[in-house]
Amino acid sequence: MFDAIRNRYALTCPEQAGTTWVAVSAFRRVRRLRGATAPAVFRVDFDCECGQRHETLVSHDRLDREPLGSESTGTYMNLLTGRRELVATEFADQATDQLRKGNWPWTFWCHPESAIRPGFPSSLRFVTPEHEHGDQRVGVLVRCFHCARHTVNIVSRDHLDVPWHADPAIEFVAQVFDGDQLEPEERFRHQLWEGPSRVQWLADAG
Ligand SMILES: [Zn+2]
Ligand SMILES: [Zn+2]
Ligand SMILES: [Zn+2]
Repeated sequence: MFDAIRNRYALTCPEQAGTTWVAVSAFRRVRRLRGATAPAVFRVDFDCECGQRHETLVSHDRLDREPLGSESTGTYMNLLTGRRELVATEFADQATDQLRKGNWPWTFWCHPESAIRPGFPSSLRFVTPEHEHGDQRVGVLVRCFHCARHTVNIVSRDHLDVPWHADPAIEFVAQVFDGDQLEPEERFRHQLWEGPSRVQWLADAG
């Protein structure tokens, strides 16, 4: 499940014999599992609170739709009605409203198209923070939902972790990336934070 208050997924931690809470910004790599189509399944590598990196399988629905409240079973006290209501209902209503207005839960800059495009957690290929802790910038290699090409965006943790929250400005690398050139993750990380990538500032992205 996805905790819509803390903006974290419940994923399996083998060290703690149970689940742990994981934000999108703690993902490190997302790969679509070959062969699984209905539903699609993704292999997610994430940095766990236990200090280790784990790999787990997450269905497409869980990854992209639970954060929008469509599967959550949490409840909250609605102060207007005085009743305990399903968080899912509230968040799903909010999601429907936002989508009607043309807003997307996640957006990223697509360099090949020079446009802001929608994306989802499943659109991420690599996620690498500039530093391991704190609220600093996070670099992501994201596959465009529209044209399927890749761009490196540099965003805040909230931009990734909180659906419907968009940074007022996004940094991006003005370079066309071929996913194969960037593996393994260490090379992506090196190119992004220590290498020759030219980072440009994109104002008014949101
Ligand atoms: Zn763990
Ligand atoms: Zn540093
Ligand atoms: Zn695109």
